[in-house]
Amino acid sequence: SEPTATGTRAPARLVVLAGPTAVGKGTVAATIREDHPGVWISVSATTRPARPGEVDGVHYHFVSDAEFDAMIAENQLLEWAVVHKAARYGTPRRPVEEALAAARPALLEIDLQGARQVKANMPEALFVFLAPPSWSELVRRLVGRGTEDERERERRLETARIELAAEAEFDVTIVNHEVHDAAQELVALMKAQ
Ligand code: 5GP
Repeated sequence: SEPTATGTRAPARLVVLAGPTAVGKGTVAATIREDHPGVWISVSATTRPARPGEVDGVHYHFVSDAEFDAMIAENQLLEWAVVHKAARYGTPRRPVEEALAAARPALLEIDLQGARQVKANMPEALFVFLAPPSWSELVRRLVGRGTEDERERERRLETARIELAAEAEFDVTIVNHEVHDAAQELVALMKAQ
């Protein structure tokens, strides 16, 4: 995943996409799921309840606290974190290993804490930071989404402010001006030209 002398990159097998809350990571991942079926996208386990329209096993594996405890105890998770002080999220390890063994480009869309854990274990992965066009645009997206109450929004904005500073830890930044463009840029990093 290092740049070569000519400035081009070898295609990255494992790409970790992270970025501040509400930047649109989930939407970029959903666009790739629709438009680029050749890219394998990890399905995370989470202890939060499903939102309307979310399908167990497709968007997440929705599990109980006890089930999540068991996954940790059995070392089934590549990484996991408590996100927004609300629920636990983790990446099942085996499907990632299987995708890599099958030489399928693999994408993890996870939070910053999780990205740091993957970096500690798999430094050869390509770490991509999805950035908002501006802070005001990030606030607009978080408010516009309308899925959180005011207190929760404040909490997420505080998290986002801290997360924005983490950009320097990443290999590449993609600015999410428009979801299809961002998805295209990401896929270009994952596929041979
Ligand atoms: P949401 O609940 O809105 O779907 O996701 C909340 C946050 O959890 C997002 O920032 C998303 O990137 C993060 N997330 C989703 N899956 C995982 C995971 O497997 N591990 C980690 N560390 N974060 C995750």
